[in-house]
Amino acid sequence: MEISEKSTPGSIYEKAKLELETKIYEYISEYTIPDNPTVYDFLILSLTSLAFLHGNVAIGYCEKDNVIGNIGGKCKCGEPLQGIGLLYPIKNKNYQKNPAISKSWEALQNALEVAYMITIFGYSAPKSDVEAVSMLKNAWGNVTDRTMEEIEIVDLRPEEEVFESWQEFIYTHHYSYHNDFFDTTLGRYPRRSCEATFDRLMNCRFLDGSKGFKNSMDFNDISLLVNPLIQSEKWAKEEKTFPINPYL
Ligand SMILES: [Zn+2]
Repeated sequence: MEISEKSTPGSIYEKAKLELETKIYEYISEYTIPDNPTVYDFLILSLTSLAFLHGNVAIGYCEKDNVIGNIGGKCKCGEPLQGIGLLYPIKNKNYQKNPAISKSWEALQNALEVAYMITIFGYSAPKSDVEAVSMLKNAWGNVTDRTMEEIEIVDLRPEEEVFESWQEFIYTHHYSYHNDFFDTTLGRYPRRSCEATFDRLMNCRFLDGSKGFKNSMDFNDISLLVNPLIQSEKWAKEEKTFPINPYL
């Protein structure tokens, strides 16, 4: 934390930071995916797009063309995509300093402004992250302007504590609290959580809650469920329409 804060160009701290970052890249790049899915696999596959708010060792970026892809992959300019760096847990995070990370924060802020529902998974909004939380709060705006929106929180802490962390985001009782990812809208209606919630609350439609992710699924089961949804998303994008919602 301190090294990152003191890391001015040319300083010994910058050298130490770069050395540390190289080691972290090497260490994490050696990770292999376990044979069976973990809750993080389910979580990632339940979402339709991702933003890497603290960087990602597997992601590369070309600043000139604003292209993101696998690290080392080729950009349209012919150059390999360069690592985007990592953002450390420091008091005053400089989100703007790193172009790829600042674009991710921008994407998150834009998404929050128009979001109908959000799920917060295992993030306690700690006091040390005050700057990040205030950015989120600015994007979300005043709760009295978000009277339709729903917030789902997946957290192992007691409900009162969780509610207190996030109350600035919650309009009256428009939230649900879960200990288990598989009970959430993301787990029950993967890749269509927003549509499902809107259909349930606004259109008064009954949903089939049995078609989503189950803890017992292997990667093959997941792919059978998720692939048609991804195909439908691609088709909907081309046709400028809505993807299928199989949970109705
Ligand atoms: Zn390029």
